[in-house]
Amino acid sequence: MAISVVGHANPDTDSVTSAIALATLLNAQGMEAKACMQIGAADLNPESKTVLKRFGLAAPEQLMDAAGKKIALVDFSDLAQGPANLASAELVAIVDHHKIGDVTTNNPILFRAEPVGCTGTVLNKMFKEAGVAIPKDVAGGMLAAILSDTVNFKSPTCTEDDKAAVKDLKSVAGVTDTEELFMEMLKAKSAVDGVPAKDLLFRDYKDFDMKGQKVGVGQLELATLDQVANVRQALVEAMEAVKKDGRHSVLLMLTDVVKEGTELVVLSDDPALIEKAFDGKLSGNSMWIPGMMSRKKQTVPNLQKAFGC
Ligand code: MG
Ligand code: MG
Ligand code: MG
Repeated sequence: MAISVVGHANPDTDSVTSAIALATLLNAQGMEAKACMQIGAADLNPESKTVLKRFGLAAPEQLMDAAGKKIALVDFSDLAQGPANLASAELVAIVDHHKIGDVTTNNPILFRAEPVGCTGTVLNKMFKEAGVAIPKDVAGGMLAAILSDTVNFKSPTCTEDDKAAVKDLKSVAGVTDTEELFMEMLKAKSAVDGVPAKDLLFRDYKDFDMKGQKVGVGQLELATLDQVANVRQALVEAMEAVKKDGRHSVLLMLTDVVKEGTELVVLSDDPALIEKAFDGKLSGNSMWIPGMMSRKKQTVPNLQKAFGC
């Protein structure tokens, strides 16, 4: 029986291309393996679709149930992120870069996890160690995964190993400009055309309690703020509707991943308090905050401080 290689649910580019890469390596080593993913090709995220198309890679086949199958995992090892019946399937390999999850096995398996920025980085090492040449198209997918997982080397999770892998893979894949590749992926990921403003606001949105006041904070990661120029007014109207529904403030982080900063759009009962929170000055209903990338690590703590939480 062929080994089904599968990444986590709601797959990202690393989960998709690492399944392809590990299946390729296993096949080269005489084991029959096929790449799978926990989603139908049509519903795959726009970034991964772009990557598969660019490098001419076939989408992995859909696998939602592991019952009775031989399984290899990439990019995760938590049962909750796996296909149905993973716990009772025959697990034969894990290649990952996360904390170790809760899968268990009855037999010894190939288990390779490293604290690097991407599974693609680990797989690049495994190909080298095995003396197996990475096919050009597969190298392209692995390269894209590393750029995506490390946010083009800007994530705190990025390591020297990831940078070294990118150097290897770009020459195999024939990619001269990784910036251009990253931008193409980012543009696909942050496409807003045809998406209703309310859906954009709620794409990545959380409510917080600040000393008894309800504060909502949404975030859109963008390649350039120009991407939302045409929907800006509609976004503000969507924020107004959300604010009317019992909120003290509604903030929308328009994060420019390239410039590494955020235009913070603010609707608040107390705009001066928000200005104080970020040591900024609103111009109309927004202000540019250099270096702001993370809601969890930057935006929320500053708000909590200003609200006296
Ligand atoms: Mg992942
Ligand atoms: Mg990953
Ligand atoms: Mg990711």
